Amino acid sequence: MKIVGGGLAGLAAAAKLGATGFEVDLHEARPFLGGRATSFPVNPAEADSPRIDNCQHVLLRCFDALLDFYRRCGVEDKIRFYDRLYFVRPGGGVDTLERGPLPPPFHFTGSLLSMKMLGWADKLSLIRCLRAIPRERRRRSDLDRITMAAWLREKKATPRAYARFWRPLLVSALNEEPERSSALPALQVFDEGLLGSRASYEIGIPAVPLAELYSAALERRLGPRVRIHLRSSIERIDPAGGEADYFISAVPFERVGRLLPGLSLDIESFEHSPITGIHLWFDRPLTELDHAILLDRRLQWLFRKSETYYLAVVSASRDMMGMTQAEIVATAQKELAEFFPDAAGAALERSRVVKEIRATYSAKPGLEASRPAARTRYPNVFLAGDWTDTGLPATMEGAVRSGYAAAEAVIAAAAAR
Ligand SMILES: Cc1cc2nc3c(=O)[nH]c(=O)nc-3n(C[C@H](O)[C@H](O)[C@H](O)COP(=O)(O)OP(=O)(O)OC[C@H]3O[C@@H](n4cnc5c(N)ncnc54)[C@H](O)[C@@H]3O)c2cc1C
Repeated sequence: MKIVGGGLAGLAAAAKLGATGFEVDLHEARPFLGGRATSFPVNPAEADSPRIDNCQHVLLRCFDALLDFYRRCGVEDKIRFYDRLYFVRPGGGVDTLERGPLPPPFHFTGSLLSMKMLGWADKLSLIRCLRAIPRERRRRSDLDRITMAAWLREKKATPRAYARFWRPLLVSALNEEPERSSALPALQVFDEGLLGSRASYEIGIPAVPLAELYSAALERRLGPRVRIHLRSSIERIDPAGGEADYFISAVPFERVGRLLPGLSLDIESFEHSPITGIHLWFDRPLTELDHAILLDRRLQWLFRKSETYYLAVVSASRDMMGMTQAEIVATAQKELAEFFPDAAGAALERSRVVKEIRATYSAKPGLEASRPAARTRYPNVFLAGDWTDTGLPATMEGAVRSGYAAAEAVIAAAAAR
């Protein structure tokens, strides 16, 4: 059994197949595992340089497959969960989203009604839209043909509710602007993530650099049947070559054409959407909040990595691709001084901007039909990856689910032999 790709999708498939008794060889082109969810030394020239994540990777409590995978890897205790989301306005005002005593989908009613960032008309429109989500998601068949912004206009979401609630949450969940993203994955994220259960919205943040979650120790955890080959780039899978009995391709969409030229996949429909991570080290603390959604400016989220090290994130950051590192850092500094006026005099000691141009695919309308299933026209070749038909946008949860689905398809194929 040969798996190509050591990101979460390939690793999840390896974990499941190894545990089921398959002999697995996993090939990863790079010298480390984790794919797009990884870390690197701040200064590669320094031997003991601290490792930073390429960008913050956040999970939700409802990411069942990812949490199962973390348990298999023995790292589930390395994730810290938070049951409050903070919305910070320029000037420093903070609103909190947290569950109250009511059962879902009414558990946020108290905190939504008390938000100062919204007026009464905004709150009423917000509650009306939230109530419509589970119903519309089940009943409507046109959701992948319209944008989420069109859906919100149809539901008469107010401009302020759009700007201060819907857009900040959607752009980070889908890595796409609501004006460009399909309503289908957007409603799915809100239905399962925010409204699914009382705890589903809790956000999980790894307490260690991502690379420590999938370190060399992982091979031992996955058992003697899983062999991981790093720096092992696979040029092509030959389904009839007899090199392995089964193959799983767990590479990103832009790589699959070269690996499996015989498959007629609609890759042209996929486009990338970038994410920019701005790592900033100050001479003093900016805030005591561990994480914050930043409103009305370019920065979207801030994560406090230590007392003085902060990571600001901008999803769907196309407009930052043409900016220099210095311009991006200056923008971030100026905006953070507005959000945290008490720390406006903080001096920046070090910075690092990471532009991930190929962060995820863009979840545009009409794409769902182009996302392929795990099975292919070759009975011994299967597909995994966050871009395949997982029913989720490009997330770590989607990647793990795709790996598990590909592994289950292999198990079923082997049983039918
Ligand atoms: C900046 C950024 C922020 C993100 N934030 C979040 C977040 O907060 N929450 C969240 O859930 N998700 C987030 N994501 C998305 C998440 O990282 C991805 O959805 C997920 O990691 C994809 O996993 P994958 O296994 O499908 O693909 P990848 O991680 O891309 O793995 C594919 C692997 O295949 C390898 N490979 C490619 N070609 C070959 C070859 N020919 N031979 C051998 N190996 C090959 C690659 O080196 C790579 O390691 C973020 C992504 C980025 C980039």
